[in-house]
Parts: sequence; C-alpha cells; structure tokens
Amino acid sequence: MSSNGHHDVIIIGSGAGGGTLAYKLAPSGKKILLLERGDYVPREKDNWDTRVVNVEGKYNTKEVWYDKDGKSLHPHTNYWVGGNTKFYGAALFRLRQEDFGELKHAGGISPAWPISYEDLEPYYTQAEQLYQVHGQRGEDPTEPKASAPFPHPAVSHEPRLQQLSEDFARQGLRPFHTPLGIMLDEKNPRASACIRCNTCDGHPCLVYAKADAQVLCVDPALAHKNVTLLTGAKVTRLETAAGGREVSRAVVEKNGHAESYSADIVVVSAGAINSAALLLRSANDKHPRGLANGSDAVGRHYMGHVNSVQMALSLCPNPTVFQKTLSVNDFYFGSKEWPYPMGHISFVGKLDGDTLRAGAPAFAPQWTLDQMGKHSLDFWLTSEDLPDPSNRVTLNSKGDIVLSYQVNNEEGHQRLTAKLKEVMQKQTKCAAHGHECHQGLFARNLFLGQRIPLAGVAHQNGTIRFGRDPKMSVLDANCKAHEVDNLYVVDASFFPSSGAVNPALTIIANALRVGDHLLERIK
Ligand SMILES: Cc1cc2nc3c(=O)[nH]c(=O)nc-3n(C[C@H](O)[C@H](O)[C@H](O)COP(=O)(O)OP(=O)(O)OC[C@H]3O[C@@H](n4cnc5c(N)ncnc54)[C@H](O)[C@@H]3O)c2cc1C
Ligand code: SF4
Repeated sequence: MSSNGHHDVIIIGSGAGGGTLAYKLAPSGKKILLLERGDYVPREKDNWDTRVVNVEGKYNTKEVWYDKDGKSLHPHTNYWVGGNTKFYGAALFRLRQEDFGELKHAGGISPAWPISYEDLEPYYTQAEQLYQVHGQRGEDPTEPKASAPFPHPAVSHEPRLQQLSEDFARQGLRPFHTPLGIMLDEKNPRASACIRCNTCDGHPCLVYAKADAQVLCVDPALAHKNVTLLTGAKVTRLETAAGGREVSRAVVEKNGHAESYSADIVVVSAGAINSAALLLRSANDKHPRGLANGSDAVGRHYMGHVNSVQMALSLCPNPTVFQKTLSVNDFYFGSKEWPYPMGHISFVGKLDGDTLRAGAPAFAPQWTLDQMGKHSLDFWLTSEDLPDPSNRVTLNSKGDIVLSYQVNNEEGHQRLTAKLKEVMQKQTKCAAHGHECHQGLFARNLFLGQRIPLAGVAHQNGTIRFGRDPKMSVLDANCKAHEVDNLYVVDASFFPSSGAVNPALTIIANALRVGDHLLERIK
C-alpha cells in the first residue's frame, strides 16, 4: 500500500457537512485533504432530463445495499463532489427552537440535543449567508428567532401557488415562502444565475446556480493552495495507533489500488449511512465493535423522516414551473384537536408524466400519467421519526451495508395528511370551478404503498449521535468521538433527533460550528 504524506486535517466526503467544513478551514493555511469517492457531476444536457435522472437514475449510485431480510435495495443516494447537495431541492430550513429540547410525540419521545438552538443560531445565520438563502422572516408561525434577515428576498409564487397560498390564508393558516438556496435574482432576470427551471429538485443544476456544496464550498476552498481534493478516493477503513486513542491512517481505494493517508485530525462526513458503515468496518482489537463504538450506538438510531408525496389533482391545470416555493407549518407541533407534533407541509419539484413513470406499473398508460402531471399540485409531507436503536446500519458478511428500519410515530403523519385533505377540499379561489376544482389527494406511491420506500434515504441521519453521556452517544458536543482524540464526524450522523424540516441547513450550520472548534484546536 502506498503511503502519501501527512496532513493537518483529512475530511472524508465533500457534501453538506464535509464540503462546508473544507470551506471553513481553507483560509487557515493548514494542509487539508478532502477525500471524495465520487467525481465531479459531468455538465451535460442529461442533468435536466427528467427521464434520464428520475427513471433511469443516471447519477444514482449503482451500489447495492440490503434490508434486514437480506433483500437487495438500490439506495437513492449520490456519490459526487458536493454529495447529495448536487441533487437536493435546496429548501434550507432551521430546526425549530423546540426541536433542540425533549419533545413528546404520540409515538414516544424525541430526545434533547446536547446543544441549544441559541448555540447554533449564529451558525445558522452564517449558513444562510453562505448558501445564499432566499426567504422572508416573520411569515412562518414556528420560525425560531434569528439574528439577521435572510440575505436574499423570498422566491415568489407562480400564479397557481399564489392562489393556493391565498386559499390557505383565508382558512386561517399561515402559509409562507419556503427558504430556498437558489441564486435567483427576480429583480434583474438578465443577470440572474438561476433561470427558474422545472428540473431543480432531484437534478444537478446545469448552470451552477443551485447553492450546493461543490459550487459554494469545495471549489472556493480549492482556490487555497493548502487544500487538496482527491476524487475517486473511497475510504475503506480507518486504522488507529497502538493505544487506540488516535486514528493513524485512512486507507483509501483509488483506481483499484490501496493507498493510505494520515493527518493530525480526521473528520468523517460520508453521509449518515456510509459514515456508520466506515466506523463499523474499522473495528480492531482496541475497538472490537467498530471504531469509537464502546457505546454500541454506531449505526443505531437511523432516522430518515416519515415522508410522503401527495398529489392533489385539480380540474384546472397546474402550469407552475418552479413549484417549491410554498410551505405550511401550522400543524408542526399539533392542532387544537391533537396535542402532538404532526410535521411540515411543502412541495417537491413539479412532477411530470416521465417522473411518474418511475414507480408506476407497466400497464399505466403514459397519457394518464402525463395528464396527472399536468393537473397536480405535488406536496411533500415530512413528519419526525423517532430514534429507535433497532433501526440501524450494520454490515453483512461481505462488508455490504444492511439497513434495518421499521417506521415509527406514523400517526402524526396520517393526521397531517388528513389535515391537508381537509384544507384542500375547502379551496374556493378557482374562478371556474370553485371548490369543485379539487378532485382529491393521491399518494405519489399509489402503486407501491403510501410512504417513500426504504431506498429513499435522502434525509438519512442519526447513526453516530452526539451527546453528553459516552454510554449513550458516540460523539461529544463538539462532534469529536468520545473514545478517539482526533476523530470528528460532521455529516447528518450526529443528529440525536431529526425534527420535521429538511436537514441540510442544520448539517451546514453544525459543520461551521465544528469548524470554529477545529480552528481553535489547530491554530
Ligand atoms: C433528491 C434529494 C432532494 C433533497 N432535498 C433537500 C432539500 O430540499 N433540503 C434539504 O435540507 N435537504 C435535502 N436533501 C437532503 C440533503 O441533500 C442531505 O441531507 C445532505 O446532502 C446530507 O449531507 P451530508 O454531509 O450528511 O452527506 P452528503 O451530502 O451525502 O455527502 C456525503 C459525501 O461523502 C461521500 N462518500 C461516501 N462514502 C465515502 C467514502 N467511503 N469515502 C469517501 N467519500 C465518501 C459521498 O460521495 C458524498 O459526496 C435532499 C436529498 C436528495 C437526494
Ligand atoms: S437554474 Fe435555478 S431552478 Fe434551475 S436547476 Fe439551477 S438553481 Fe434550480
């Protein structure tokens, strides 16, 4: 195995966590090595082809994982520079202040974090600035206190969404503009990097106008000559020095060969499932259950949110191009009739007949799918799943990833869906059909079951939780492993609970926070 010199910091994975941390540490002048298993997403017209992206899954990993019964699954995740932020919908939410404390749900307890909202708040503000979030403070009824306005104005609704927003407001709801990381300048369209297209959520941005970790963090970090990026470099194992308290080298598979790299500090940020798998694969005589796994928590408490896509069909068409502008949080913590959290209502990118083909049976006529796509409002519902130790990442005898997951806390999601049904039936603003315009709510996974299937790991988190008690958690409040002095984790693994909003801004803010701690440590 070739050995490749010593660095101050190695970061494994260049997504929301790792890419952001590289950006934060770059100006320090320290020798930083970013190890990324993927390559740059090629810039090509296929980036914006819904059939190629959603049906053929051109950019998804072809890796095979297994469920708890040994059945193979094809994870909807992406290994590229920038990680899953290359494909995300860029809805960039802060967790609610209450999400940092203990919250009682119908299905159990969502545990408290070892840090408070106030600890993370300055970093949320920095994260919103770095990822150019467009939004409007004061509209979202559950929004936590912020020390600065959004750096850019909210992305406007197109007419069908504006009509829906007014319909919701008339019923007493407080719909608001989704905070979005797209570089859209509506006042000056000719100078705007973003062209407001219909292939954003789930697609890479062909014109580099999405606020993703590659464009905003990795590439700027590489402008510093002390930062090196190695692509096609899959870290297969971390080895420790004799006492077991220090990672001594990262073993990398590159072009079919094994290489090794060492650093004073090693930061794992390979995504919640791969990071847990990496620590488990790094078991040795000092760490027999997996690296830093004296607590047996590595890989456990996997969460991915209880998510579903609900299509509301109307008689009138929905010609919206960029649909992800509207959100509703009125039921986030419950309702008058039900005192438990239900979750968050927002939108996915506009679905079309091609996208609906994925998941539809072969006999479903394309014409029907095209008509559905033309007439639907496509909601994304998110409820919190609770950290169950049996929901976990393990390895099979060949070292492949096994994901065991039993959904929990589902009643909140069912009630949220029922609430959406109720408010959709009460629409009146359609001039042609009044409330008859709404024809019903249908789960997008109509043919496969109501929820996003196990392979939908977009919101994966929780597998290497942080906490104050080393018996119950893997990381301390600075995201350093309790049992290893130079090992940190900054991807979504650290979440002890997941709230019910999209996770990326919290991952980014935390990476900036851990970055401050590391700058202090290495200065
Ligand atoms: C279609 C889609 C839409 C989404 N929409 C939103 C949204 O609107 N808002 C939101 O907040 N979130 C959204 N998400 C989720 C968001 O993208 C993730 O939460 C976020 O990217 C996770 O950041 P991370 O750093 O944990 O991991 P990732 O961003 O996944 O980065 C992990 C990186 O590690 C690399 N890697 C993995 N294993 C290894 C290894 N062994 N060696 C070296 N490198 C490795 C991977 O290639 C990858 O680059 C979406 C996700 C998807 C897929
Ligand atoms: S141009 Fe704008 S809307 Fe289209 S993919 Fe890029 S960021 Fe998204």
